[in-house]
Formats: sequence, C-alpha cells, structure tokens
Amino acid sequence: MIELKQITKSYPVAEEDLVVLKDIDLTIQEGEFVAIMGPSGSGKSTLMNMIGCLDKPTAGEYLLHGNQVSAYDEKELAGVRNRSVGFVFQQFQLLPRLNALENVELPMIYAGVGKKERLERAEEALDKVGLSNRKRHLPNELSGGQKQRVAIARSIVNQPDLILADEPTGALDSKTGVQIMEMFTMLNQEGTTVILVTHEAEVASYANRTIFVRDGEITTADEVVDKTTYERLVSSHATEDTAERANQTAVTPASVESKDKHATTKEVADEATSEKITPEDTTEVAVSDEQDQSSPDEGGTP
Ligand code: ADP
Ligand code: MG
Repeated sequence: MIELKQITKSYPVAEEDLVVLKDIDLTIQEGEFVAIMGPSGSGKSTLMNMIGCLDKPTAGEYLLHGNQVSAYDEKELAGVRNRSVGFVFQQFQLLPRLNALENVELPMIYAGVGKKERLERAEEALDKVGLSNRKRHLPNELSGGQKQRVAIARSIVNQPDLILADEPTGALDSKTGVQIMEMFTMLNQEGTTVILVTHEAEVASYANRTIFVRDGEITTADEVVDKTTYERLVSSHATEDTAERANQTAVTPASVESKDKHATTKEVADEATSEKITPEDTTEVAVSDEQDQSSPDEGGTP
C-alpha cells in the first residue's frame, strides 16, 4: 500500500540544500505495524510527514494504494489525509477550548459529516478508547494519557486505513505508555496499518517490524541503537527475525481479519464524504493548536 521509491527531501538552508532524506526506498504493506527508530534529527518526522502526505518529496515517487500522491497538489493531499490517514502526536495537539467530544468531531467536520452522525461516531470512538466518562472534559481537565486517548479517538473517527504516530508515548510515563501501545495494537489487529516513531525499544517491541533511520537513510539497528537496546529488540515479544526486520525485508502483515467490522461505519462515512461541504484538513488545524483557535468555532460545535 505504501511505496516510497528513491525519495529525497531537502530544504534550502543558507546557500545550499540540507538533504534530510536520501534515496529512501521503503514498502509497507496494508495491515503492518511498523516502528521507526533513530537518533534525534535523523529524519524520522520528515519521513512520517511524507508518508502522511503532510509534505512532498523533493525527488522520488510515493505511491499510496497505487496512487502517485507525490504528484498531487495541496488540495488533493488534504483530501487523502482527511480520508485515509489518522495522526497522533507526542504533544496530543488537541484544541484547548474544545472538549473531548468536540475535538474528536473535528476531522468529521472537515469530511462534511452531519451533526447527528458526528456525535454518534465521536461518542463511539471515545467509548472505544475507554473515555466514555470524560466526553465533556476540556483537555486541561484530562491527564496526559487521557489526552492521548482523545487524540487516538480523533485519529480513528474517519476510519483511516493508516495511523501515523510520532513519538506518541514520548510525553507519558511508562505505565500510561503501555496503555497507549495496547490501543495501537488493538487498532492494528482490526486491520489498520500503524506506523510509529519512538526512541524506546519497549515501545518499538509492539511493532511487527522496526525500521532504523540514520542521517536521512534507512539503515540497520546496530548502527543507531546501543547493544543493550538492540538485544532487547531482538528478544522482544513481537520479533520474529530482527536481522531481517532491520533490513526491512521481513514483511509480515498483521491480521486483517476484522477489517469488515469497519464496513458499516465506513460506508456511512463514504456517503457523508461524497456530499462534502468544505473539504479541508484536520491536521493543519491540529498542528497549529494553541495559535489557531478560530477554526473550530466555524465548525458549528455545540
Ligand atoms: P527527527 O524526527 O528524526 O528528530 P526531523 O525529521 O524532525 O528529525 O528532522 C531531520 C532534519 O531536518 C533535522 O536536521 C532538521 O533540523 C531538519 N529539518 C526539518 N524540517 C526542516 C525545515 N522545514 N527546514 C529546514 N530543515 C528542516
Ligand atoms: Mg521527530
């Protein structure tokens, strides 16, 4: 489903180009659970932004479900993001003046889903992440783990087939981190492809495959993590063949059996999307967070 071919990303800095990703070749199958590890500044977030259609490569091809999204314009990319990708960030990126339910409604507003259905689906998503009793709480009335669960509910509410999580446990204590990882595991078992960036071997061990990035290139584990971490990864519960994983040849798509469960809601979502009002992108709003407080009100939240 995800095919990066000779992807390069560079930024003009001072008089020259800073090459952040170099000739990345990477294929991720539908239903996989992939962890991306590597030192700070190695290009992990840039790679995730590329995969999530938040950013375009300077050179190379990106095929998502066979569509050459690297040739899409900004509006088309926003559509892909809203329909097929759920994002989860280290700092949650919830809008501070909206309660949990309203935050979860946002991606559906952009997808043109009607009020009644938005409410139903937002409640369903919050139930799913175990927050039934916190629906009317504002972000600052929630713990870190609860905020991240709201963010996960928001990421799944449009039934994406891909979830991208950039250091989702980075701001949480390890016990809370485990609960969050169990949620990604559940979503992956339902058929959603999950890709997450992490610094922690414990977190990476939930994935079926770990990719290592160093200086903008995909590399092997032993070049980016210390020996202890490497060995922990090798012996982690999800590991089958780390040597292969590190060379990213071990493509083992996780279970896709319960994908059908989504069918009903997804069909409804598709229907709603077909009568779009103003298709825009959630992520833009989500990313701007504190700075941009104007958009949510326009959405007609309660
Ligand atoms: P990681 O997530 O692995 O810590 P990033 O992908 O955020 O790394 O960044 C990789 C490199 O790209 C860093 O050196 C960073 O400074 C640089 N970089 C990221 N975004 C930009 C940008 N918009 N302009 C210039 N340099 C950037
Ligand atoms: Mg990063």
